[in-house]
Amino acid sequence: MGWYSPKKGLLLGSLFLLLSLAGCLKSAPEPVELRGRAMGTSYKILYLPTAETPEESEVQGMVALTLSQVEQKMSTYLKDSELSKLNQAVKPGVYPVSKETYRVLSEALTLGLESGGALDITVMPLVDLWGFGPTEQKGIPPEDQIQEALAKTGLDKLALDPKGGQIQKKTSNLTLDLSSIAKGYGVDQVSDLLKNLEIKNHMVEIGGEIRVLGERPGGGAWRIGIEEPVPEGGVNRVVELSDQSMATSGDYRNFFSEGGKNYSHTIDPHTGRPVIHDLTSVSVIHSSCMTADGWATALMVLGEKKGFQLAEKKGLAAYFIYRDKDSLKTRGTAAFNQLLNPEAGE
Ligand code: ADP
Ligand code: MG
Repeated sequence: MGWYSPKKGLLLGSLFLLLSLAGCLKSAPEPVELRGRAMGTSYKILYLPTAETPEESEVQGMVALTLSQVEQKMSTYLKDSELSKLNQAVKPGVYPVSKETYRVLSEALTLGLESGGALDITVMPLVDLWGFGPTEQKGIPPEDQIQEALAKTGLDKLALDPKGGQIQKKTSNLTLDLSSIAKGYGVDQVSDLLKNLEIKNHMVEIGGEIRVLGERPGGGAWRIGIEEPVPEGGVNRVVELSDQSMATSGDYRNFFSEGGKNYSHTIDPHTGRPVIHDLTSVSVIHSSCMTADGWATALMVLGEKKGFQLAEKKGLAAYFIYRDKDSLKTRGTAAFNQLLNPEAGE
């Protein structure tokens, strides 16, 4: 008898089918997830590689290099970063800055002016005083020290050369803090890196600030969760995004408690104190993650009423979560609602 039998044929056929399925599965790219730490927090990247995409470890290396370059320029924690050196220069005068730092400074200044000084990168002495900077000794400082630090701050003390390349400190001891906006810039840089590597479907997240491009694995827009602003976590709302960024500022992650009150790391530049109002989280959607990050901090300073009004006026897509008596309420601007539900109202 020969080796063929219908039963064996079925078996071989199934084996062949299985093998070819396995072949198909192998050629369909699996999404890659990269995780790491940078800019004082953790990051997560998800992307769909193509045949041309470099090895995972190579991509991770390039991501790490990109982020360390941002840190070397804009960190206030690294003593030898470009920004730290600029902060150590106490004399008033004109100082050269790199193209990258100039770009972030210039966006921060623009948003600072547009928000009536709510975003103010000169708040560094206050951030330090309240313990949210590199010194990290959290606590309520004495009133005279608050006033002293407040006197050192103000956007009017900083000017940018419109031609680029240099900035002017108009007073001595002017120090700058880009923490409110640099994470978003880092996200943009990594997303641009992936785009340049022809990785057209990706999600980049650093410490809650996100940018997505193209589609999520499996197809369709990326589904991004807006966190429930409570210690237990959870998702308050899911938004579908492609080719967009989202940044969130909240009062529920970085704060200290004293005398039964919580003091968060967002400083009101007009009072010199951490903001106190009922806004607990605000998320901003924008094409640039740097801009979304800056606006989220600015709106967090302004609170759920003034912040909402300004966001509407500027046509920003923003989502506010605020305390109302004992519960949490939410409110999205017209641009936010339109973005998430484009058919509504047409
Ligand atoms: P997160 O996304 O973690 O909530 P933010 O983007 O809101 O953080 O940035 C908060 C940081 O920005 C603070 O830790 C401080 O260094 C700095 N900062 C605090 N208040 C202001 C302000 N009014 N303007 C600019 N920077 C600020
Ligand atoms: Mg911010």
